[in-house]
Amino acid sequence: MGLEDRDSMRILRDALDSGGEQLVADFYTRWFATDLSARDLFPPDMATQRKVFGHALSWLCDELIAQRAEEPVAFLAQLGRDHRKYGVTPGHYETLQTALLATLRGRLADRWDRRLAEAVTDVIALIVGVMSGAADAETSPPFCDGTVLEHLRPARDVSVIRLKMDHALGYQPGQYLPVQVPQWPRRWRYLSPSIPADPAGYLEFHIRSVPGGMVSTAIVGEARPGDRWRVSNPHGALHVDRDDGDVLMVAGSTGLAPLRTLIMDLARFGENPRVHLFFGAKHPCELYDLPTLWEIASTNPWLSVTPVSEFDFDPPWAAQYPDVTPPRGLHVRQTGRLPEVVTRYGNWGDRQILVCGGPAMVAATKAALIAKGAPAERIRHDPLAS
Ligand SMILES: Cc1cc2nc3c(=O)[nH]c(=O)nc-3n(C[C@H](O)[C@H](O)[C@H](O)COP(=O)(O)OP(=O)(O)OC[C@H]3O[C@@H](n4cnc5c(N)ncnc54)[C@H](O)[C@@H]3O)c2cc1C
Repeated sequence: MGLEDRDSMRILRDALDSGGEQLVADFYTRWFATDLSARDLFPPDMATQRKVFGHALSWLCDELIAQRAEEPVAFLAQLGRDHRKYGVTPGHYETLQTALLATLRGRLADRWDRRLAEAVTDVIALIVGVMSGAADAETSPPFCDGTVLEHLRPARDVSVIRLKMDHALGYQPGQYLPVQVPQWPRRWRYLSPSIPADPAGYLEFHIRSVPGGMVSTAIVGEARPGDRWRVSNPHGALHVDRDDGDVLMVAGSTGLAPLRTLIMDLARFGENPRVHLFFGAKHPCELYDLPTLWEIASTNPWLSVTPVSEFDFDPPWAAQYPDVTPPRGLHVRQTGRLPEVVTRYGNWGDRQILVCGGPAMVAATKAALIAKGAPAERIRHDPLAS
Protein backbone atom coordinates (compact mmCIF):
# COMPACT_ATOMS: atom_id res chain seq x y z
CA MET A 1 0.00 0.00 0.00
CA GLY A 2 2.60 2.61 1.09
CA LEU A 3 1.77 6.06 -0.31
CA GLU A 4 -1.68 4.88 -1.41
CA ASP A 5 -2.63 3.85 2.11
CA ARG A 6 -5.02 6.69 3.00
CA ASP A 7 -5.82 5.34 6.46
CA SER A 8 -2.17 5.42 7.45
CA MET A 9 -1.79 8.92 5.94
CA ARG A 10 -4.73 10.04 8.10
CA ILE A 11 -3.05 8.63 11.21
CA LEU A 12 0.12 10.53 10.34
CA ARG A 13 -1.77 13.75 9.57
CA ASP A 14 -3.72 13.50 12.86
CA ALA A 15 -0.44 13.15 14.74
CA LEU A 16 0.81 16.32 13.04
CA ASP A 17 -2.44 18.17 13.73
CA SER A 18 -2.43 17.33 17.43
CA GLY A 19 0.94 18.15 18.95
CA GLY A 20 2.70 18.57 15.64
CA GLU A 21 4.81 21.41 17.01
CA GLN A 22 6.37 19.17 19.65
CA LEU A 23 6.79 16.38 17.11
CA VAL A 24 8.70 18.65 14.74
CA ALA A 25 10.80 20.03 17.63
CA ASP A 26 11.63 16.43 18.69
CA PHE A 27 12.64 15.62 15.11
CA TYR A 28 15.08 18.53 14.88
CA THR A 29 16.52 17.72 18.33
CA ARG A 30 17.11 14.11 17.29
CA TRP A 31 18.54 15.09 13.90
CA PHE A 32 20.97 17.64 15.36
CA ALA A 33 22.01 15.21 18.10
CA THR A 34 22.99 12.59 15.52
CA ASP A 35 24.40 14.99 12.92
CA LEU A 36 26.00 18.09 14.40
CA SER A 37 26.83 19.41 10.93
CA ALA A 38 23.08 19.66 10.20
CA ARG A 39 22.69 22.16 13.07
CA ASP A 40 25.05 24.51 11.28
CA LEU A 41 22.68 24.76 8.33
CA PHE A 42 20.03 26.62 10.33
CA PRO A 43 19.78 29.95 12.22
CA PRO A 44 19.98 29.86 16.04
CA ASP A 45 16.23 30.42 16.52
CA MET A 46 14.30 27.60 14.90
CA ALA A 47 10.70 28.73 15.54
CA THR A 48 9.91 29.78 11.95
CA GLN A 49 11.73 26.79 10.46
CA ARG A 50 9.79 24.37 12.69
CA LYS A 51 6.48 26.00 11.81
CA VAL A 52 7.17 25.91 8.08
CA PHE A 53 8.32 22.27 8.18
CA GLY A 54 5.27 21.23 10.25
CA HIS A 55 2.87 22.94 7.82
CA ALA A 56 4.63 21.38 4.83
CA LEU A 57 4.32 17.88 6.34
CA SER A 58 0.60 18.34 7.12
CA TRP A 59 -0.06 19.69 3.63
CA LEU A 60 1.83 16.78 2.08
CA CYS A 61 -0.32 14.27 4.03
CA ASP A 62 -3.49 16.08 2.90
CA GLU A 63 -2.37 15.90 -0.72
CA LEU A 64 -1.54 12.21 -0.44
CA ILE A 65 -4.88 11.47 1.26
CA ALA A 66 -6.52 13.17 -1.74
CA GLN A 67 -4.27 11.01 -3.97
CA ARG A 68 -2.66 14.07 -5.55
CA ALA A 69 1.03 13.67 -6.25
CA GLU A 70 1.83 16.27 -8.90
CA GLU A 71 1.91 19.38 -6.70
CA PRO A 72 3.74 17.71 -3.79
CA VAL A 73 6.45 16.44 -6.13
CA ALA A 74 6.85 19.88 -7.73
CA PHE A 75 6.92 21.50 -4.27
CA LEU A 76 9.50 19.05 -2.89
CA ALA A 77 11.68 19.42 -5.98
CA GLN A 78 11.67 23.21 -5.57
CA LEU A 79 12.47 22.79 -1.87
CA GLY A 80 15.40 20.53 -2.75
CA ARG A 81 16.78 23.00 -5.26
CA ASP A 82 16.35 25.86 -2.74
CA HIS A 83 18.07 23.97 0.06
CA ARG A 84 21.28 23.83 -1.94
CA LYS A 85 21.94 27.40 -0.82
CA TYR A 86 22.19 26.21 2.81
CA GLY A 87 24.94 23.75 1.86
CA VAL A 88 22.80 20.60 2.34
CA THR A 89 24.74 17.47 1.30
CA PRO A 90 23.59 13.90 0.47
CA GLY A 91 24.85 12.93 3.94
CA HIS A 92 22.40 15.38 5.54
CA TYR A 93 19.50 13.78 3.66
CA GLU A 94 20.52 10.34 5.01
CA THR A 95 20.64 11.52 8.63
CA LEU A 96 17.38 13.47 8.15
CA GLN A 97 15.67 10.33 6.87
CA THR A 98 16.82 8.25 9.86
CA ALA A 99 15.92 10.95 12.41
CA LEU A 100 12.47 11.65 10.95
CA LEU A 101 11.58 7.95 10.79
CA ALA A 102 12.72 7.37 14.38
CA THR A 103 10.75 10.42 15.61
CA LEU A 104 7.53 9.39 13.83
CA ARG A 105 7.88 5.78 14.95
CA GLY A 106 8.27 7.00 18.56
CA ARG A 107 5.23 9.29 18.31
CA LEU A 108 3.03 6.66 16.64
CA ALA A 109 4.31 3.76 18.77
CA ASP A 110 0.84 2.68 19.97
CA ARG A 111 -0.47 2.41 16.37
CA TRP A 112 2.77 1.19 14.77
CA ASP A 113 2.32 -1.94 12.67
CA ARG A 114 3.71 -3.23 9.37
CA ARG A 115 1.22 -1.23 7.30
CA LEU A 116 1.80 2.10 9.06
CA ALA A 117 5.56 1.51 8.99
CA GLU A 118 5.44 1.01 5.24
CA ALA A 119 3.38 4.17 4.64
CA VAL A 120 5.53 6.38 6.89
CA THR A 121 8.75 5.00 5.40
CA ASP A 122 7.43 5.71 1.91
CA VAL A 123 6.41 9.29 2.75
CA ILE A 124 9.87 10.01 4.13
CA ALA A 125 11.50 8.31 1.13
CA LEU A 126 9.37 10.49 -1.16
CA ILE A 127 10.43 13.69 0.64
CA VAL A 128 14.12 12.79 0.71
CA GLY A 129 14.19 11.20 -2.74
CA VAL A 130 12.51 14.07 -4.57
CA MET A 131 14.41 16.80 -2.70
CA SER A 132 17.85 15.24 -3.11
CA GLY A 133 17.12 14.11 -6.68
CA ALA A 134 16.08 17.63 -7.73
CA ALA A 135 19.10 19.13 -5.96
CA ASP A 136 21.43 16.69 -7.75
CA ALA A 137 19.83 17.37 -11.12
CA GLU A 138 20.15 21.15 -10.82
CA THR A 139 23.14 22.47 -12.72
CA SER A 140 22.90 26.19 -11.90
CA PRO A 141 25.00 27.35 -8.91
CA PRO A 142 23.02 27.44 -5.62
CA PHE A 143 23.89 31.08 -4.98
CA CYS A 144 25.94 33.99 -6.25
CA ASP A 145 27.95 36.43 -4.13
CA GLY A 146 28.25 40.13 -4.79
CA THR A 147 29.78 43.28 -3.33
CA VAL A 148 27.86 46.27 -2.01
CA LEU A 149 28.89 49.32 -4.03
CA GLU A 150 26.60 51.94 -2.55
CA HIS A 151 24.25 52.38 0.38
CA LEU A 152 21.82 55.29 -0.01
CA ARG A 153 19.32 56.39 2.65
CA PRO A 154 16.58 58.19 0.68
CA ALA A 155 14.29 58.16 3.72
CA ARG A 156 14.87 57.55 7.43
CA ASP A 157 13.75 53.90 7.39
CA VAL A 158 14.60 53.03 3.79
CA SER A 159 17.87 51.96 2.21
CA VAL A 160 18.74 51.58 -1.42
CA ILE A 161 21.54 49.03 -1.75
CA ARG A 162 23.44 48.77 -5.01
CA LEU A 163 25.59 45.71 -5.63
CA LYS A 164 27.79 44.24 -8.29
CA MET A 165 27.35 40.48 -8.37
CA ASP A 166 30.28 38.21 -9.24
CA HIS A 167 28.14 36.82 -12.08
CA ALA A 168 25.08 38.16 -13.88
CA LEU A 169 21.81 36.92 -12.34
CA GLY A 170 18.94 35.58 -14.40
CA TYR A 171 15.60 36.66 -12.92
CA GLN A 172 12.38 37.83 -14.51
CA PRO A 173 11.04 41.32 -13.78
CA GLY A 174 8.75 41.11 -10.73
CA GLN A 175 10.50 38.10 -9.16
CA TYR A 176 12.12 38.10 -5.72
CA LEU A 177 15.39 36.62 -4.48
CA PRO A 178 16.53 34.94 -1.25
CA VAL A 179 19.30 37.13 0.19
CA GLN A 180 21.80 36.62 3.01
CA VAL A 181 23.77 39.55 4.44
CA PRO A 182 27.03 39.36 6.44
CA GLN A 183 25.41 41.01 9.51
CA TRP A 184 23.10 37.97 9.90
CA PRO A 185 24.60 34.79 8.45
CA ARG A 186 22.11 32.00 7.74
CA ARG A 187 19.05 34.25 8.04
CA TRP A 188 17.84 34.37 4.48
CA ARG A 189 15.22 36.98 3.62
CA TYR A 190 13.37 37.61 0.37
CA LEU A 191 14.10 40.91 -1.38
CA SER A 192 12.77 42.09 -4.73
CA PRO A 193 15.23 43.65 -7.17
CA SER A 194 14.24 47.18 -8.17
CA ILE A 195 15.88 46.99 -11.60
CA PRO A 196 15.59 44.35 -14.34
CA ALA A 197 18.33 41.71 -14.51
CA ASP A 198 21.54 43.34 -15.67
CA PRO A 199 23.99 41.49 -17.95
CA ALA A 200 26.95 43.08 -16.14
CA GLY A 201 25.66 41.85 -12.74
CA TYR A 202 24.50 45.16 -11.24
CA LEU A 203 21.68 44.72 -8.77
CA GLU A 204 19.62 47.09 -6.62
CA PHE A 205 17.36 46.45 -3.64
CA HIS A 206 15.10 48.78 -1.64
CA ILE A 207 14.85 47.77 2.01
CA ARG A 208 12.58 49.22 4.68
CA SER A 209 13.58 48.57 8.26
CA VAL A 210 10.72 46.80 10.00
CA PRO A 211 10.46 47.76 13.71
CA GLY A 212 11.98 44.89 15.69
CA GLY A 213 13.09 43.17 12.50
CA MET A 214 16.47 41.47 12.65
CA VAL A 215 17.75 41.58 9.09
CA SER A 216 16.06 44.71 7.75
CA THR A 217 17.24 46.90 10.67
CA ALA A 218 20.77 45.50 10.30
CA ILE A 219 20.80 46.33 6.58
CA VAL A 220 19.46 49.86 7.03
CA GLY A 221 21.67 50.54 10.04
CA GLU A 222 24.89 48.75 9.15
CA ALA A 223 25.29 47.79 5.47
CA ARG A 224 28.34 49.44 3.93
CA PRO A 225 30.26 49.38 0.65
CA GLY A 226 32.51 46.35 0.45
CA ASP A 227 30.06 44.03 2.31
CA ARG A 228 29.65 40.70 0.56
CA TRP A 229 26.02 39.62 0.06
CA ARG A 230 24.83 36.19 -1.03
CA VAL A 231 21.85 35.92 -3.38
CA SER A 232 20.09 32.70 -4.38
CA ASN A 233 17.77 31.70 -7.19
CA PRO A 234 14.60 33.67 -8.03
CA HIS A 235 11.02 32.92 -7.04
CA GLY A 236 7.66 34.39 -7.86
CA ALA A 237 5.55 35.05 -10.88
CA LEU A 238 4.38 38.65 -10.49
CA HIS A 239 4.08 39.93 -14.03
CA VAL A 240 2.28 42.23 -16.43
CA ASP A 241 0.58 40.60 -19.39
CA ARG A 242 1.01 43.16 -22.19
CA ASP A 243 -1.98 41.65 -24.03
CA ASP A 244 -4.41 41.62 -21.12
CA GLY A 245 -5.49 45.25 -20.88
CA ASP A 246 -4.60 48.16 -18.66
CA VAL A 247 -2.83 47.81 -15.35
CA LEU A 248 -3.31 49.09 -11.81
CA MET A 249 -0.25 48.93 -9.55
CA VAL A 250 -0.37 49.66 -5.82
CA ALA A 251 2.93 49.94 -3.94
CA GLY A 252 3.40 50.50 -0.23
CA SER A 253 6.88 51.82 0.59
CA THR A 254 9.60 49.39 -0.62
CA GLY A 255 6.83 47.26 -2.14
CA LEU A 256 7.61 49.61 -5.00
CA ALA A 257 10.75 47.62 -5.93
CA PRO A 258 9.24 44.78 -8.05
CA LEU A 259 6.67 47.12 -9.65
CA ARG A 260 9.43 49.57 -10.58
CA THR A 261 11.32 46.67 -12.21
CA LEU A 262 8.21 45.73 -14.19
CA ILE A 263 7.74 49.37 -15.25
CA MET A 264 11.39 49.64 -16.29
CA ASP A 265 11.02 46.45 -18.29
CA LEU A 266 7.86 47.77 -20.00
CA ALA A 267 9.75 50.93 -20.91
CA ARG A 268 11.69 48.83 -23.44
CA PHE A 269 8.56 48.76 -25.63
CA GLY A 270 7.12 51.63 -27.64
CA GLU A 271 3.50 50.66 -26.95
CA ASN A 272 2.14 49.35 -23.68
CA PRO A 273 -1.12 49.01 -21.81
CA ARG A 274 -1.82 52.06 -19.62
CA VAL A 275 -0.26 51.63 -16.18
CA HIS A 276 -1.50 53.61 -13.20
CA LEU A 277 0.76 53.37 -10.15
CA PHE A 278 -0.28 54.44 -6.65
CA PHE A 279 2.85 54.78 -4.53
CA GLY A 280 2.14 55.17 -0.82
CA ALA A 281 3.97 55.87 2.43
CA LYS A 282 3.18 57.25 5.84
CA HIS A 283 4.57 60.79 5.42
CA PRO A 284 5.14 62.73 2.18
CA CYS A 285 8.92 62.72 2.76
CA GLU A 286 8.93 58.89 2.73
CA LEU A 287 7.82 58.73 -0.91
CA TYR A 288 11.48 58.14 -1.54
CA ASP A 289 11.57 57.19 -5.23
CA LEU A 290 9.21 59.73 -6.78
CA PRO A 291 11.90 61.57 -8.78
CA THR A 292 12.79 58.34 -10.66
CA LEU A 293 9.13 57.50 -11.25
CA TRP A 294 8.41 60.99 -12.56
CA GLU A 295 11.41 60.74 -14.84
CA ILE A 296 10.15 57.46 -16.31
CA ALA A 297 6.60 58.87 -16.64
CA SER A 298 7.87 61.97 -18.43
CA THR A 299 9.10 59.88 -21.39
CA ASN A 300 6.53 57.04 -21.21
CA PRO A 301 3.01 58.42 -21.65
CA TRP A 302 1.40 55.06 -20.76
CA LEU A 303 2.58 55.49 -17.13
CA SER A 304 0.86 57.70 -14.57
CA VAL A 305 1.88 57.95 -10.93
CA THR A 306 -0.23 59.04 -7.98
CA PRO A 307 1.73 59.65 -4.77
CA VAL A 308 -0.24 58.86 -1.61
CA SER A 309 0.69 59.64 1.98
CA GLU A 310 -1.24 58.62 5.04
CA PHE A 311 -0.50 61.97 6.74
CA ASP A 312 -0.59 65.37 5.07
CA PHE A 313 2.41 66.68 7.04
CA ASP A 314 6.04 65.74 7.42
CA PRO A 315 7.67 64.85 10.74
CA PRO A 316 10.45 67.08 12.14
CA TRP A 317 13.20 64.83 10.77
CA ALA A 318 11.94 65.31 7.20
CA ALA A 319 13.81 68.52 6.52
CA GLN A 320 16.84 66.68 5.16
CA TYR A 321 14.82 64.80 2.50
CA PRO A 322 13.92 66.22 -0.92
CA ASP A 323 10.64 67.96 -1.69
CA VAL A 324 8.04 65.61 -3.18
CA THR A 325 5.90 68.22 -4.93
CA PRO A 326 5.25 66.84 -8.43
CA PRO A 327 6.42 68.65 -11.55
CA ARG A 328 3.66 70.60 -13.29
CA GLY A 329 1.09 68.45 -15.08
CA LEU A 330 1.62 65.26 -13.01
CA HIS A 331 -0.79 63.82 -10.44
CA VAL A 332 -0.69 65.62 -7.13
CA ARG A 333 -0.26 63.76 -3.87
CA GLN A 334 -3.38 62.30 -2.28
CA THR A 335 -3.81 61.95 1.46
CA GLY A 336 -5.12 58.79 3.08
CA ARG A 337 -4.36 55.10 3.38
CA LEU A 338 -3.74 53.24 0.13
CA PRO A 339 -6.83 50.96 0.25
CA GLU A 340 -9.13 53.98 0.69
CA VAL A 341 -7.42 56.26 -1.81
CA VAL A 342 -7.16 53.60 -4.54
CA THR A 343 -10.81 52.59 -4.28
CA ARG A 344 -11.99 56.23 -4.32
CA TYR A 345 -11.44 56.03 -8.08
CA GLY A 346 -13.66 52.95 -8.56
CA ASN A 347 -13.09 49.20 -8.40
CA TRP A 348 -10.52 48.97 -11.20
CA GLY A 349 -12.24 45.71 -12.19
CA ASP A 350 -11.22 46.02 -15.84
CA ARG A 351 -7.50 46.14 -14.94
CA GLN A 352 -4.76 43.67 -14.19
CA ILE A 353 -4.10 44.58 -10.56
CA LEU A 354 -0.71 44.15 -8.88
CA VAL A 355 -0.33 44.96 -5.18
CA CYS A 356 3.02 45.02 -3.33
CA GLY A 357 4.06 46.00 0.17
CA GLY A 358 3.83 44.85 3.78
CA PRO A 359 1.43 41.94 4.47
CA ALA A 360 -1.18 44.13 6.21
CA MET A 361 -1.23 46.71 3.41
CA VAL A 362 -1.55 44.05 0.70
CA ALA A 363 -4.37 42.25 2.52
CA ALA A 364 -6.26 45.51 3.22
CA THR A 365 -5.90 46.80 -0.36
CA LYS A 366 -7.00 43.48 -1.82
CA ALA A 367 -10.03 43.34 0.52
CA ALA A 368 -11.00 46.95 -0.33
CA LEU A 369 -10.78 46.30 -4.07
CA ILE A 370 -12.83 43.11 -3.83
CA ALA A 371 -15.41 44.88 -1.64
CA LYS A 372 -15.74 47.49 -4.40
CA GLY A 373 -16.32 44.75 -6.97
CA ALA A 374 -12.88 43.98 -8.45
CA PRO A 375 -12.67 40.27 -9.38
CA ALA A 376 -10.30 38.49 -6.97
CA GLU A 377 -8.69 36.56 -9.83
CA ARG A 378 -7.48 39.83 -11.41
CA ILE A 379 -5.49 40.75 -8.27
CA ARG A 380 -1.89 39.51 -8.06
CA HIS A 381 0.59 39.74 -5.23
CA ASP A 382 3.60 37.89 -3.84
CA PRO A 383 3.26 35.47 -0.90
CA LEU A 384 2.62 37.49 2.24
CA ALA A 385 5.10 35.66 4.47
CA SER A 386 8.65 34.50 3.93
C1 LIG B 1 8.05 37.79 -1.59
C2 LIG B 1 8.66 38.81 -0.66
C3 LIG B 1 9.42 39.86 -1.17
C4 LIG B 1 9.96 40.84 -0.32
N1 LIG B 1 10.65 41.90 -0.83
C5 LIG B 1 11.09 42.89 0.00
C6 LIG B 1 11.77 44.06 -0.52
O1 LIG B 1 12.03 44.20 -1.71
N2 LIG B 1 12.14 45.02 0.36
C7 LIG B 1 11.89 44.91 1.71
O2 LIG B 1 12.22 45.85 2.46
N3 LIG B 1 11.28 43.81 2.22
C8 LIG B 1 10.88 42.81 1.41
N4 LIG B 1 10.27 41.68 1.94
C9 LIG B 1 10.20 41.52 3.41
C10 LIG B 1 11.53 40.90 3.90
O3 LIG B 1 11.72 39.64 3.30
C11 LIG B 1 11.55 40.69 5.42
O4 LIG B 1 10.45 39.90 5.80
C12 LIG B 1 11.50 42.00 6.16
O5 LIG B 1 12.62 42.77 5.78
C13 LIG B 1 11.57 41.74 7.68
O6 LIG B 1 12.70 40.95 7.96
P1 LIG B 1 13.43 41.11 9.37
O7 LIG B 1 14.46 40.05 9.51
O8 LIG B 1 13.89 42.50 9.57
O9 LIG B 1 12.23 40.89 10.38
P2 LIG B 1 11.94 39.58 11.25
O10 LIG B 1 12.95 39.55 12.36
O11 LIG B 1 11.84 38.40 10.35
O12 LIG B 1 10.47 39.91 11.79
C14 LIG B 1 10.26 40.85 12.85
C15 LIG B 1 8.79 41.23 12.94
O13 LIG B 1 8.41 42.01 11.81
C16 LIG B 1 7.25 41.46 11.15
N5 LIG B 1 7.43 41.67 9.71
C17 LIG B 1 8.14 40.91 8.85
N6 LIG B 1 8.08 41.43 7.62
C18 LIG B 1 7.32 42.53 7.68
C19 LIG B 1 6.91 43.51 6.73
N7 LIG B 1 7.27 43.44 5.44
N8 LIG B 1 6.12 44.53 7.19
C20 LIG B 1 5.75 44.61 8.48
N9 LIG B 1 6.11 43.71 9.42
C21 LIG B 1 6.88 42.69 9.04
C22 LIG B 1 7.28 39.99 11.51
O14 LIG B 1 5.96 39.46 11.49
C23 LIG B 1 7.85 40.01 12.93
O15 LIG B 1 6.85 40.27 13.86
C24 LIG B 1 9.75 40.71 1.10
C25 LIG B 1 9.03 39.62 1.60
C26 LIG B 1 8.49 38.69 0.74
C27 LIG B 1 7.69 37.54 1.33
